[in-house]
Amino acid sequence: MTRSKPSAWIGPIAFIATVVALFWLERRYPLRKTKPESDWKRVPRNLAMAAATGTVVSLCERPLTELLARRVDRRRAGLLPRLKLKPLPEKILGVVLLDYTLYWWHILLHRLPFLWRIHVVHHADLVLDSSTAVRFHWLEFLLSIPWRLGQIAILGIRPQTLQLWQRLTLLEVLFHHSNLRLPIELERTLSRFVMTPRLHGIHHSMAAEEADTNFSSGLTIWDILHRTLKTDVAQNHIEIGVPSPHDPRELKLLDLLKLPFQHPRAGKSISSARGIDHVDRHGKNVDGPHYVG
Ligand SMILES: [Zn+2]
Repeated sequence: MTRSKPSAWIGPIAFIATVVALFWLERRYPLRKTKPESDWKRVPRNLAMAAATGTVVSLCERPLTELLARRVDRRRAGLLPRLKLKPLPEKILGVVLLDYTLYWWHILLHRLPFLWRIHVVHHADLVLDSSTAVRFHWLEFLLSIPWRLGQIAILGIRPQTLQLWQRLTLLEVLFHHSNLRLPIELERTLSRFVMTPRLHGIHHSMAAEEADTNFSSGLTIWDILHRTLKTDVAQNHIEIGVPSPHDPRELKLLDLLKLPFQHPRAGKSISSARGIDHVDRHGKNVDGPHYVG
């Protein structure tokens, strides 16, 4: 009988510990306090969506991407091998470039109507927390496979780099979707480098000019470079979700699974009518105006 190395357990244990810690912390120190739906209904529904998506990932995405990464590695094909870097710099640059090309996939999910019809399932959640991080329609992951294969083939991504990027991205996505109230100074510092809960809260706003910002999934540099970073919105002014569907009675599990196949809804038509975003109704500065800069 072969025994797996102790190091093989570090990843899964760290992942489970992170999920449990985030789930507890975001309820102990919540960032946004309004909850149009109870956790007892939402969280199991989001996990059911995640189970369907996880099935697509393990049956289709994982085998295809791993096969291609192994082939790319054997042939030393793609951009990165041409740079003739040492293994560690090549791995780091690979992770950074995968993150950058994921930024562009996220832009396409919002800009192309047929992709938005699927991505809207993720954005329609009325509460934003770590369970939203795994609530995607299975079709979104199926349609992302050609993009993922293109990333691997063009960039020349090796299997170890792909695995590292997948793990880091999953942890970062869980973190920035969470409803965890970090000390503002800590979040300001962190948000200069990576996507944070307050920044991603703005991306999940019902207001179109806020939802069309903060697309980065890992490093915030991509939003800074492409002028899609938005920092000056207070969390208590954000209404999470999309204009339609926005009624909890239309957001049950079956509704979410059917949503991409239905006639397109109004989508992102609402506009924020706020004056000064960071000042509350009583004129008091509630959250600090900016996180970056
Ligand atoms: Zn999005």
